[in-house]
Amino acid sequence: MTAFELVEPSSLGEALGLLDPDDPAVRPIAGGTALMLMMKTGLYQPRRLVSLPLPRRGLPSRMV
Ligand SMILES: Cc1cc2nc3c(=O)[nH]c(=O)nc-3n(C[C@H](O)[C@H](O)[C@H](O)COP(=O)(O)OP(=O)(O)OC[C@H]3O[C@@H](n4cnc5c(N)ncnc54)[C@H](O)[C@@H]3O)c2cc1C
Repeated sequence: MTAFELVEPSSLGEALGLLDPDDPAVRPIAGGTALMLMMKTGLYQPRRLVSLPLPRRGLPSRMV
């Protein structure tokens, strides 16, 4: 697995500012069920993962 940046925004605005829909190397990560397997096998090598805040943090689970 290659090195990548993991960011944990604390607000919806911050999360949206960290995501870049035009850059496939920047992705949201929720549970990581699919993403982590893709990363471990080398199918996906992110530059940045934006950990989506959980609903208990006051944000919707689907926000992008
Ligand atoms: C072993 C295995 C078994 C599975 N079995 C099933 C099954 O039986 N039924 C089924 O329906 N699915 C199944 N899946 C698929 C899996 O549940 C989906 O990929 C699900 O989306 C993973 O959720 P996650 O929150 O862990 O997503 P992640 O792994 O964190 O992310 C998956 C993808 O969705 C993107 N993403 C995450 N959150 C958001 C968001 N809020 N908005 C936009 N994009 C987002 C990520 O960037 C990434 O590209 C399976 C996957 C695996 C690896």
